Amino acid sequence: MYKITKVTDRNGNEKKSAIEQIKEICPDMTGTILYKDMISIGSRFCFLWSGDSGRMMRTSPIVEITEDDNKIHVVTMNTEYWLEGISAIEKRKGGINKMYDMRICKCGRLHMVPMEKIENALDKDKNLLLLCGGCGAATVIGADIQPDYIEPQKDCYSMYSYDFSPYWNKEISILDFESTENQKGFEEVFYSHGIKVPMMTGQYATDYFYGKFSDRWYPDFYKIQKKNISVSEIMEFIDKYNQDRTTVNMNRFIRETPEEMLEVISHYLIEGFDWKGTKWERL
Ligand SMILES: [Zn+2]
Repeated sequence: MYKITKVTDRNGNEKKSAIEQIKEICPDMTGTILYKDMISIGSRFCFLWSGDSGRMMRTSPIVEITEDDNKIHVVTMNTEYWLEGISAIEKRKGGINKMYDMRICKCGRLHMVPMEKIENALDKDKNLLLLCGGCGAATVIGADIQPDYIEPQKDCYSMYSYDFSPYWNKEISILDFESTENQKGFEEVFYSHGIKVPMMTGQYATDYFYGKFSDRWYPDFYKIQKKNISVSEIMEFIDKYNQDRTTVNMNRFIRETPEEMLEVISHYLIEGFDWKGTKWERL
């Protein structure tokens, strides 16, 4: 993970309004560099902000780039960015198709959408439709091409996602795959069973809300089936259940999830995941 520590124009003057705008999206200005191995002069610098916003900064083409220790200095036509690594940088294994865009469904599953699919849709100025194999939620993922807020004369992709049709029935026909003046077509439908998140109860999460996972199963009442049980024992049992149903079983989660996905997941700051003491802990 990297933090943007400075944004200036080419004369070294701080671009205050640009920094303010970045802070509105991501207050601590941290994120992940996408396609780090492929960044070079002439290509664009892609930076995915941490947190749940799912938004990405894509600069105008790079004019100059230098890396020194864990500091990176990126120069584009009108802007210079200074970044600093805030954790040990693990070398990415493999290429672009190993990278994912993570979406957490309200049903508690993690959808790892290959960035290659998203990039492919963006290149054609189309959207991607993500379908959850768990709860059926449909999400449209895409990007607007807008003037870059740091360099207004340049293009920049501003990623968005929204519920496909949260309240009404809606059909999808062949026409939805074509772009018209009024709508962007779908490039592809990605049906994802997602990764299930195991909880301390032994069940998988059934809900996700603002950084927290929980499961909705009933407590195992047989455990307290005995004569003369006291109220305090029952209270203790309920407290433990409430704790367990809202705590992710990290050991099991790490065991059941592919490494290259853990690498991506651990970059997001999500309250429900406690990486402490694991190889994915980021300082
Ligand atoms: Zn779902």
